[in-house]
Amino acid sequence: MPWRVSTFFTYTHNPKKSYFCTAFKLKRLNSQPIKIVTILGARPQFIKAAAVSNALSQHPNIQEVIIHTGQHFDRNMSQLFFEEMHLPVPTYQLDIHGLPHGALTGRMMEGIESVLLTEQPDWVMVYGDTDSTLAGALAARKLHIPVAHVESGLRSFNEAMPEEINRIVTDRISDLLFCPSETSVSHLHNEGRLAANARIVMCGDVMKDAARRFTTLMTPPCPPLPDRFVLCTFHRAENVDNPQVLRQLLTALEQVSATVPVVCPLHPHTRKSMEGIDYDTEKSSIRFIEPVGYLEMLYLLNHSSLVMTDSGGLQKEAYYMGRFCVTLRNETEWTELVECGYNRIVGTNPDQILNAVNQLLNTPTEFPVELYGNGHAAEIIAETIAQTK
Ligand code: UDP
Repeated sequence: MPWRVSTFFTYTHNPKKSYFCTAFKLKRLNSQPIKIVTILGARPQFIKAAAVSNALSQHPNIQEVIIHTGQHFDRNMSQLFFEEMHLPVPTYQLDIHGLPHGALTGRMMEGIESVLLTEQPDWVMVYGDTDSTLAGALAARKLHIPVAHVESGLRSFNEAMPEEINRIVTDRISDLLFCPSETSVSHLHNEGRLAANARIVMCGDVMKDAARRFTTLMTPPCPPLPDRFVLCTFHRAENVDNPQVLRQLLTALEQVSATVPVVCPLHPHTRKSMEGIDYDTEKSSIRFIEPVGYLEMLYLLNHSSLVMTDSGGLQKEAYYMGRFCVTLRNETEWTELVECGYNRIVGTNPDQILNAVNQLLNTPTEFPVELYGNGHAAEIIAETIAQTK
């Protein structure tokens, strides 16, 4: 296959040289489309990919092949999202799940590597911070295939979180780093440990694109909802893997539900942990429901009075839908929301949770500051990739 040397502009990661500089890259000299292999595995990745895959499909010179690792596999954690958002059916289903982090990542790497050897893509695209993200980036890097990381540069600065390790390592070995905010760009500059010729692109949040695109299609979930309610989700390991923390959190949510109904779509991992402490969801004052699809989630957000969550994605979606958020963690990657007063970080302390909920339920919802781009992040990503040929 013929090759040529071409130039393109790179946003250098050296903080002392934060300007565009010229880099050299070998590119294939032929008329074939740019082939991207996209690695998906977990619920938030399906939502992000729905925005980006749609933008990629608008480019005649881009061909996308999807690998689904199988990390999330229940119908309402996976297939439902492909159907609702018309995501292309994955060409490869690896069906790998239910293993500890190391085994899961290793088995995924093995499966992804074998596909990459067959497909010989120009790029591998990974999203966010899951084990599927890390496995995809590592498998590609070891085969010298360039990696594009969407939602790059986010940091909680809590290395006890598996997601933080996944983010740091993925950013370290990515070639195109698509950042949702200036803060995430500055984290990458401050670390100064990117791959040679890595290029940082501040594109905004692809979840903003998804929220904008799919809000018009939002759908009520099956069981009827109370007129006024707080929408709650929680599934982070630090909140549900420790029985004492989980009990404390459930007590706090029950206390909130004495004031305003709490509707909680229950993540399968959380359900399992609650079974482990013999918590009876039927007898609880919290209204637990099955995980819902994205269109139902947008409806819940739109009809809620407030959001309580430990999810990364939901903190932003609360803001996109004009709702305050109470974050059930001790830190967040989305610090701008806290700085603007749209999000309160409260951890799992019942008093702090109750105080924040009571205050925010009585605060007018105004969100004048525009954060995380203009809702066209996916187009910037597609255009950037298209220009690499
Ligand atoms: N979500 C959903 N249905 C649910 C719960 C969450 O569609 O029952 C969506 C939510 O709107 C957000 C994404 O899933 O877009 C967040 O996923 P999750 O909380 O699992 O991951 P995180 O954002 O913490 O990485």
